[in-house]
Amino acid sequence: MPVIISAYQSIQASLTEQQVTLIAVSKTKPQEELMELYTLGHRAFGENYVQELVDKEAALPKDIQWHFIGHLQSNKVKYIAPFVYMIHGVDSEKLLQEINKQAIKQNRIIDCLLQIHIATEETKFGFDGPALHEFLLSGRLSSYTNIRIRGLMGMASFSQDQALLSQEFTTLKLYFDKAQQAFPDGLFNTLSMGMSSDYALAISKGSTMVRIGSLLFGARNYPAKN
Ligand SMILES: *Cc1c(COP(=O)(O)O)cnc(C)c1O
Repeated sequence: MPVIISAYQSIQASLTEQQVTLIAVSKTKPQEELMELYTLGHRAFGENYVQELVDKEAALPKDIQWHFIGHLQSNKVKYIAPFVYMIHGVDSEKLLQEINKQAIKQNRIIDCLLQIHIATEETKFGFDGPALHEFLLSGRLSSYTNIRIRGLMGMASFSQDQALLSQEFTTLKLYFDKAQQAFPDGLFNTLSMGMSSDYALAISKGSTMVRIGSLLFGARNYPAKN
């Protein structure tokens, strides 16, 4: 299935106007399809699976900004640490420690978003609100010398219930505003929320970065596992 160029162009135009960053979620999609967007000038791509990301990074242009948006296992951090642009789903201190360790080895600073659990489903990963707050106040963050926490990421419930989604996005935005006070340097400025089905709502609730796959590339052949 080809890339839906017209959808890309209209979504990108409207997001640019709203100063929201578009991550083109290209998991399961062949390299040629990423290149179609690349040729139009797009650079920010999101991937969920480490091996797939490593393969694509090796084959595709070096100025692509690779966002890892899936669930990252500690033992796989080393494979993406040399090049990853931003890791969205950081959901534990154990993972932070490993990212920091690998970033030191690569002599890099890695930008991360802390994943917050907002959905009603049990299966979605992330810190809950109180745990986030405790962590930020603890001072432990300063030991992660090679990580920059750039903001928060969340996934709303898999639901059509607009009131529920709206409430979840609002909750995440409140956590974001509160957490921002712990980062006076201004680098904590990214709120990654919203996907194909709910991005407009997410933006209305304060999202600064949306992760959109199926609206650009068409439906995937197998479902997101995250
Ligand atoms: C797959 C995925 C997306 C994109 O989903 P679409 O519904 O295709 O836009 C966004 N965020 C995460 C974390 C994903 O795993």
